[in-house]
Amino acid sequence: MKLSFYGAAREVTGSCHCIETGDKRILVDCGMQQGVSNGFGQTFPFHPGEIDIVVVTHAHIDHSGRLPLLVKQGFKGSIYATGPTCKLLEIMLRDSAHIQELEALWSGRKKKRSGDPVTQPLYTMADAEQVFPLLIPCAYDKMIDIGEGRSIRFTDAGHLLGSAYVEMWLTEDGTQRKVVFSGDIGSPGHPLIRDPEYIKEADIVVMESTYGDRSHAYSFDIVKELANVIETTLTKGGNVVCPSFAIGRTQDLLYHIREIKERGLVRSCPDFLVYLDSPLATAATKLYSGDLMDYLDEEATALIRSGIQPLSFDGLRIVERAGDSKKLNDDRTPKVLISSSGMCDAGRIRHHLKHNLWRQECAVVFTGFQALGTLGRIIVDGLESSVSLFGEEIAVRCRIHNFRSMSSHADKEGLQKWLDAFERKPECVFVVHGEDETCRTFALRLIEQGYKAVAPKYTSIYDLLTCEPVFEGRDLLRRSDIERLERRESPVFQRLMLAGMRLIEVISRNKGGTNKDLAKFADQIDALSSKWDR
Ligand SMILES: [Zn+2]
Ligand SMILES: [Zn+2]
Repeated sequence: MKLSFYGAAREVTGSCHCIETGDKRILVDCGMQQGVSNGFGQTFPFHPGEIDIVVVTHAHIDHSGRLPLLVKQGFKGSIYATGPTCKLLEIMLRDSAHIQELEALWSGRKKKRSGDPVTQPLYTMADAEQVFPLLIPCAYDKMIDIGEGRSIRFTDAGHLLGSAYVEMWLTEDGTQRKVVFSGDIGSPGHPLIRDPEYIKEADIVVMESTYGDRSHAYSFDIVKELANVIETTLTKGGNVVCPSFAIGRTQDLLYHIREIKERGLVRSCPDFLVYLDSPLATAATKLYSGDLMDYLDEEATALIRSGIQPLSFDGLRIVERAGDSKKLNDDRTPKVLISSSGMCDAGRIRHHLKHNLWRQECAVVFTGFQALGTLGRIIVDGLESSVSLFGEEIAVRCRIHNFRSMSSHADKEGLQKWLDAFERKPECVFVVHGEDETCRTFALRLIEQGYKAVAPKYTSIYDLLTCEPVFEGRDLLRRSDIERLERRESPVFQRLMLAGMRLIEVISRNKGGTNKDLAKFADQIDALSSKWDR
């Protein structure tokens, strides 16, 4: 019984963990990496065809975005997720495929002009469509048999509609182990979604640590602060631009703005206009007030019962077509603009930033975590006086606000509370989904409290009976290294380099094998090398 870490290991995005038990391989999450380019950053260090089952904790792209790639490269098994997650995945992955196609087209045109080989999209709409028939929608809190004595159960994580922790029971040679994957842990009191639940028992825990070194400011009154930003900016004649995760943060923003309007908190122009410029966010918002309404929290349900649509208000304009999105930039009426992606690494938000960042009278409001390497992070950090957008240098002169407490991730106290809820200390806690420093600091804090805790490295493998490493893994390729390789080498040569890197990993994993096997393996590599050494 082994556990490998193929993503979100000492970084926040790209969640992907793999359980090996008997002859089966179960992948938990298959997320996209953010803040890296699509070549090296998104490849799998395993063969997708060798995976038997995938379990998805929630629909966010950093947990689900590479499912179409997995299927495209040979995965044929079942994908288990909660009912709402399955619904959200259908719109999420279609949108992601659309972005991949657009980006390949855009960079393809550029490469054609420079004579470089044209880039293929990471996956297409057709690839994304192949994922949906494999989805198995599951209810919360029900034991689900996934075959050969293995079961899973989804429990509400209170992070996004449909989000869940995955409890997994495994039996091998008469020994049973229970592994709990936290996915993303929510924080209580969040609008629209229910509060996170807690789990009492686990042998092994794999937990996120996004805010493992920070506390959210709970005294921060989001509605009041947001109303203030809107009032000041619109009075100056500027726009309020909100880069927002299409699923989750966007609906929270709409929920808060509805309240701002209802309470008349923006006195100078109570009828201000709000543009929702994200087809994905629009589709998700429709789901929230349609098929997924049964999953909303009590407050939102009570509003609906009293005849109020929690995500709708006067002055809300939905922008469907890309052409209309561009026209918004010529319209000088001060407005609130909500667009995605949340980390500004793709989508229509980039156009809005291009037209607003340089204007002193405007404001940009961030509402979610910005991963290292993304444009959102560069802006939030505030270290650059200009940023590059569509090949143009754009000055950053507008006001930048970071509403961290709008995050639907637990802060360090929330994470601790989640872990303290286990009645018996788990034998080992693997700390993932946090930046390098954060993962390690959080793990150290747990060790001080008497836990066995590890911040596993990328591609590391652990034995689940002893909780000891079988393979230590490696440091992540740095963004600069990846970019250099991609710039210099042809796609086919890049593939060969990756195959070589995989071989080194496979060799390391065979450490401790029988002399006969190791000698045979060495002979085969020698023969291959001799054949190609020309
Ligand atoms: Zn998430
Ligand atoms: Zn996440």
